[in-house]
Amino acid sequence: LRLVDGASDEEERAAELALRPKSLDEFIGQERVRDQLGLVLDAAKGRGRPADHILLSGGPGLGKTTLAMIVAAEMEAPLRISSGPAITHAGDLAAVLSSLAEGEVLFLDEVHRMARPAEEMLYMAMEDFRVDVVVGKGPGATAIPLDLPHFTLIGATTRAGLLPAPLRDRFGFTAHMDLYEPAELERVLARSARLLGIDLRKDGGREVALRSRGTPRIANRLLRRVRDFAEVRAKGVVTGPVAAAALEIYEVDALGLDRLDRAVLTALVKLFGGGPVGLSTLAVAVGEEAETVEVVAEPFLVRAGLLARTPRGRIATPAAWAHLGLAPPGADRV
Ligand code: ATP
Repeated sequence: LRLVDGASDEEERAAELALRPKSLDEFIGQERVRDQLGLVLDAAKGRGRPADHILLSGGPGLGKTTLAMIVAAEMEAPLRISSGPAITHAGDLAAVLSSLAEGEVLFLDEVHRMARPAEEMLYMAMEDFRVDVVVGKGPGATAIPLDLPHFTLIGATTRAGLLPAPLRDRFGFTAHMDLYEPAELERVLARSARLLGIDLRKDGGREVALRSRGTPRIANRLLRRVRDFAEVRAKGVVTGPVAAAALEIYEVDALGLDRLDRAVLTALVKLFGGGPVGLSTLAVAVGEEAETVEVVAEPFLVRAGLLARTPRGRIATPAAWAHLGLAPPGADRV
């Protein structure tokens, strides 16, 4: 079941496209990021120049791609989308950069996962709008300087700390995107319901918002599943109880934990007695990369009060034991 995972399919992409806010005004929540970004863009427009490079950090599905599209739209500039892992050679990056139009916005998702030589080429491109393309190999190799159009790079990363300092420092503006509050997700859901023609009642929206892991993408995805259920079983009206019953069927629990969240908690509690245990040990136990556990599962588990990060490692809180229907060690002795 990939309902609450980061997975994307055709239906998903089409739905996301339809629901994407097109302007900063339509973008819900993340007030601080929106205000700051608004200023950066207004200043750039006032100067008649492309905006400074922008780094967006935050977990999957929080709206980084959406913001990049909004920046391009607000700057009335074309947008090019690529990603760090797609750039395996410096030459790949040179090809992308040299084909940009003046003022174009280049969105590089997972910018922390670019090949090293490409990364170094990017430093110069960001700073001087120039690259050296190396032609040939060995002693005969020559570097041909190539001027680039002025562009705005929008780098996205799950965590700004993953970026090497020289790259991080070349962004004029860094925005940290946090998990959304349930009240903000209620607004996201109300907007989506309106666009999709779903009869979503206030308590229905609240129920879905509370189970969406603080993530708009998940909120929208759950809304579509809840709609299916409501159409078949509740004349299309999504009330709180209808949403709860639907999500029960799709195995989304009351806190909205997904498979990875549950795996992490279960390992922490059942294999490590509730911790403390180191991140990498925990990651091996659930068969995931440490980075995934850290940036995808943990922020929400911490926010939900189920997991704590301590200097000695991760520990499960009493609420985590309770959520798994278990008694914390020592509970019977109290
Ligand atoms: P990833 O890095 O995993 O691609 P992302 O951070 O780029 O994720 P987006 O693709 O921008 O996330 O957002 C996912 C979906 O969530 C979008 O289709 C959009 O409909 C919705 N969304 C995201 N942020 C907001 C917001 N602030 N207001 C309304 N809808 C939003």
